[in-house]
Amino acid sequence: MLDAWRDLVLGSSCVGCSRPGRLLCSPCRAALVPSPAPAWPTPRPPGLREPWAAAAYDGTVRAMILGHKEHRLLALARPLGDLLAVAADAAVDDLLGAAPLHPAVPLLLVPVPSRPSTVRERGHAPTTALTRVAAERLSAGGRPARCVSLLRTRPGLADQSGLDARSRSVNLAGAFRVHAPTLRRLARLGRPWHVLVCDDVLTTGATAAEAQRALDAVGLHPLAAVAVAATKLRR
Ligand SMILES: [Zn+2]
Repeated sequence: MLDAWRDLVLGSSCVGCSRPGRLLCSPCRAALVPSPAPAWPTPRPPGLREPWAAAAYDGTVRAMILGHKEHRLLALARPLGDLLAVAADAAVDDLLGAAPLHPAVPLLLVPVPSRPSTVRERGHAPTTALTRVAAERLSAGGRPARCVSLLRTRPGLADQSGLDARSRSVNLAGAFRVHAPTLRRLARLGRPWHVLVCDDVLTTGATAAEAQRALDAVGLHPLAAVAVAATKLRR
C-alpha cells in the first residue's frame, strides 16, 4: 500500500526488478549481501595499492550504481554508501593484520572526482555522495571516518567510458591534483589519517592508481582503494 502510494506520487520502481514502488524493493535489498574482497584487476596498474570492492559489478548493484549516477536516483546513495563502508571496513580490518595501522587513527575517505562538465550534466557528484554516506556509516559503527573532496580533475581529461585499457591509462596520466585550499583546511585539523581512495566502480584500477599517486605527491599516502563494486575484466 505504501509502495503503491510512493509509485503514485513519485512514479518510481525498483531498479533491481522493476516492481513499482521503492527504488530498491525489500526483496532486492535483502538479496543484496555484500561480499567484500580484494579486487585486483588484470593486469595490475603500476603503483596500485590493495583495491577492495563490496560486490561484483552486475545485477542489482550495477543497476543501482547506474541509476544513481546516470539517472539521479539520489536515494540510492544510502544503500550504495553502505556497501562502500563495508568495503572500507574489510580493507582496514585486513590492513590491521599486516600494516602498522593504528585503530584509533581516523579514516580519511577521498572520493575519486568526476570532471566538472560531468557533474554539471548529471547535476550531482555521485562518488562524493556515496563516500559521505560511507564516512557516516563507518563513524556510526565506531570507526571514525571523514569524507574530504581533496582531488580535482585536470582540464582536458576525457570521459573514461568507451576507452580501452591502454587509452585509459594515457588519458589518466596526471589526471588528478590535490586542491590546495582543501589540503590546508585538512592540515589545520592536525592529525594523522589512514587514507583510502573511494570510487563507485573499480574497472582497470588505473583511475584509483592515479588518484593514489596525486595524494602521494602531497604526502597523504593512501593505504588502499575501495569501491562499491568491481568489474570482472575480460582480457
Ligand atoms: Zn526489486
